[in-house]
Amino acid sequence: MQNQITYTFLFLCLFISITSCSDDTILNEAEKKWLQEQDSIHVAVYPYYPPYQFLNKNDSIDGILVDHLNLIENKINYRFQKQYYTSWTQLLEDTKNKKIDIILEMQETKERQKYLNFYTEFFETPFVLVVRKEYDSSIDLKDFKNQTVSAPEGYSIDDYLKKNYPDLNIKNYPDDISCLRSVQSGESDAFVGGKALVNYLIKSEGLTDLKVITEINYNYIPSIAVRKENKTLNTIFSKATRNISNSEKQEILNNWLFKTVKPFYKKAKFWIISSIIFFAALASIIFIHFYLKFKINQKTKELQIAKDNAEESNRIKTNFIQNISHEIRTPMNGIMGFSELLKSDSLTPEERKEYTEIIIDSGKDLITSVNDILEISVLETKQSKVRFTETNIGELLLELVSEYERKAKDKNLAIHLKNDIPEEENTILTDRSKLYKILSNLVHNGIKFTNAGSITIFSYIVGDFIHISIKDTGIGIKQKDQDIIFKSFSQSEKEISKNFGGLGLGLAIAKQYTDLIGGKISFVSKESEGSAFLLEIPYTQMQKNAELSTDDQETTKPKKHIVLIAEDGEINFLFLKTVLSKMADFEFVIYRAKNGKEAVEICHENEKIDLVLMDIKMPIMDGYDATKRIKKLRPNLPVVAQTAYSTEEDIEKALAAGCDDFLAKPVDRKILRPILDKYFSIFGNQ
Ligand code: ADP
Repeated sequence: MQNQITYTFLFLCLFISITSCSDDTILNEAEKKWLQEQDSIHVAVYPYYPPYQFLNKNDSIDGILVDHLNLIENKINYRFQKQYYTSWTQLLEDTKNKKIDIILEMQETKERQKYLNFYTEFFETPFVLVVRKEYDSSIDLKDFKNQTVSAPEGYSIDDYLKKNYPDLNIKNYPDDISCLRSVQSGESDAFVGGKALVNYLIKSEGLTDLKVITEINYNYIPSIAVRKENKTLNTIFSKATRNISNSEKQEILNNWLFKTVKPFYKKAKFWIISSIIFFAALASIIFIHFYLKFKINQKTKELQIAKDNAEESNRIKTNFIQNISHEIRTPMNGIMGFSELLKSDSLTPEERKEYTEIIIDSGKDLITSVNDILEISVLETKQSKVRFTETNIGELLLELVSEYERKAKDKNLAIHLKNDIPEEENTILTDRSKLYKILSNLVHNGIKFTNAGSITIFSYIVGDFIHISIKDTGIGIKQKDQDIIFKSFSQSEKEISKNFGGLGLGLAIAKQYTDLIGGKISFVSKESEGSAFLLEIPYTQMQKNAELSTDDQETTKPKKHIVLIAEDGEINFLFLKTVLSKMADFEFVIYRAKNGKEAVEICHENEKIDLVLMDIKMPIMDGYDATKRIKKLRPNLPVVAQTAYSTEEDIEKALAAGCDDFLAKPVDRKILRPILDKYFSIFGNQ
């Protein structure tokens, strides 16, 4: 079955190729043979009749009939010998004398039919009247009676005019272009020529003074003419011309006649270029549209983020203002309220103690809030500096626990310390006050956010780091809030500030301080179960200071120390004096100076002064100047600056003036104590 199909297909291909080849054989064998036997068959070409036959720019013949002859040549597979003529009359004469066999282009007339056969009639084109532009366009050939009308000699139109318009004065020229030029120059008044030819010549020769005004009742029908006696040639021509299909004929005509100058909008090129431009523009517009849309979206998103940030920051600030008002009012109410109650004589000693402690705690809370606000602004302007000193971690943790013990107890919470750092490795080099502040913020939060259970502080050494962990059994931190708690003014939820108070600064400060001392802070927390904050600080161990021998402790008696308090404010002086007088293990003799000048004079007059507590802001002479002068008089006399909360710059200034240490006001007993220890041994001057 498959073979059958293949054979049928091959047979069909063979048949098609045979039948398609048959086109080449329109002539029979005898005719072909006859053609082969001819030395040459001459075709008369008169190449002055565009667009039928003419010399093109390359000086080769071109035109409708030339193409036609080529087609006939292809069909009979034979090339004729072309003989060029410059004179039509000569051509006619040679035809009559049988010198040529074929005339490429000729109008059929009765006279010519006697010795020529005509083939392949082409389109008819009317003869038209051509005049100079100044002539009236409505005139007719009849109106040229006795006037000169040019016509090419021997052309069919020449015969026609002479026969049909005997009144005209016909002047002969060798060809159409000479006739037209004679009209243009005024030698002739009109010319009658084939419409297609006339239009072609007027345009191509630039005869702009001429115009075509009317058609006359005679058409030009060009044909190929073959001498009658040559029977075989006529048979061949007849076969060949019959074989020319209408579409072949039309193709040739289209090539020559319909090459009209189309308006630009009718040209394919115009539409192709326009389409390209249009689509390119469309593509550009679409691209720009999407690009702008993308940019707008991007900007909108940026603006939205900026807006959200602004709103968030605004919300945080509003919250902060509300919190700050709360954080100031609450301790102030405590201080004011209980101070008022303290005035009453009927208080029991326990009540008095309790009220006093409330006032002290409230004052501390207040000062902590103020300090935190100032500190965060210092941190934000990157002005905070670190001061590394020998720090005993064990002591620092004990101090921390003792500070928060009472607060924890008030909430029924246990506070534990598990210090696993060996005694001899406790002293490291770090910024003590910053470390204390970090830990105190963490312990403070532990107590604040725990309602039942305990707070445990663990400390141990891991490689080159000391780890201090503060673990509580409190409310924990919601997962979604865990990213924000180290940001300034952030609190894990709105309710936090309502229920627990606070400014949302503690962890921000702790984090930034940790960075400053080269440490790391992290936490794990589970809602309702508790949190554990871990502080890792570089472990740089120091030599432990030589301790006092037990013998000394047992045999030496406490010595009185003379302290000068330079302080212009009454309350501050009274407070300091009271703190010093209540200091166990020490006995002090207190001197007072109300300004810097007095302080210098007292130090000058009294060589026994052991220590100066120097206020910085004082009338007449400030603490800096007074210190400088005192240090000049007694370089070894310790001067401790006492300042209200001040910037690092102020502290630096105090140290530069010669102060040996500084204390923040209001002076904290726990901070004053180590300073006194530093300058006085318990039992005598160092
Ligand atoms: P404040 O305590 O003044 O609100 P902090 O910066 O110290 O500010 O803490 C920020 C927030 O982190 C707190 O508001 C709280 O939501 C959360 N937080 C901090 N420590 C704890 C803790 N130990 N337990 C539960 N939540 C905590």
